[in-house]
Amino acid sequence: MNQRGLCLARVAGVGTRMAQVIDATWNVMPRVQFLGTGNAFSPPGRMHALVLIDGKILVDAPPTLLPQLRRAGVSSNDIEHILFTHWHADHMFGFPFFILERKVVSNAQNPLNVYLRPGGKEILSNLSHVGFPGSLNEVLKNDINWLEEESGEIENSGWNYERFQVTHTPETDPHGYMLTHKNGFKILHCGDSGPCQEIEDRATEANAILIEMGVPDFVDSPNHHNPRQVNSLAERQPHATILVTHNYSNAVNQKGGFPTPKLNERVIQLEDGDELVIEENGRHFHVRK
Ligand SMILES: [Zn+2]
Ligand SMILES: [Zn+2]
Repeated sequence: MNQRGLCLARVAGVGTRMAQVIDATWNVMPRVQFLGTGNAFSPPGRMHALVLIDGKILVDAPPTLLPQLRRAGVSSNDIEHILFTHWHADHMFGFPFFILERKVVSNAQNPLNVYLRPGGKEILSNLSHVGFPGSLNEVLKNDINWLEEESGEIENSGWNYERFQVTHTPETDPHGYMLTHKNGFKILHCGDSGPCQEIEDRATEANAILIEMGVPDFVDSPNHHNPRQVNSLAERQPHATILVTHNYSNAVNQKGGFPTPKLNERVIQLEDGDELVIEENGRHFHVRK
């Protein structure tokens, strides 16, 4: 059975022995876990949007970052890198909790690499001083590598990043990331954005496009994607798999908020806990629900 077959076998829940064989290969495959898939208002059944790559790279730090990591069984000590997209609270307010917990509970020894725009260091430092006055001075100074380069290698991982500007509330300095694995697989993290040329240009070469669908169709804002705009992205980029996160709607089987919209059949609306599993050769991938 090839690797894809093994993955699918695991998904199908075959016997324990087979599962053990699969586990032996599981770790080497790049994987992207979605620890939260909701917008700023945490719709029923969803935590704030949060991406974890290969168990050690986070994109953004939402307010409930710590409980989201715990629910996934991940220690803050395992996190080596955080890439920030922009300065809205639902994407960064978990940072002070994270760096304090990392220091005093998990007792992390390695510095944390933080990838962000110029000016971001001051924003996160101020936030940390407001949150835990006097407690984080040393951590901010000695335990964090502040990396402002617009592109580069993500150390000790198989990934490279390229940051690019997107269309969102301008005061938040909004950006997305093209993440390229050494096996050639490309995931375009569009950040929190409305439709824009920067996304369009890069989408043509992406295998998977992670799009934040923050608002329903009756909201027509240049700064957010709504379902109609996600469908039209899928039509313009038929080669790519579109993954929807930062969703304004309820999770499956949840009531009380907005119902899940019907989207193009090639679009996958992610749920908290879903994973994108990429095979070693980078050519095949699937979402494990
Ligand atoms: Zn947001
Ligand atoms: Zn935002």
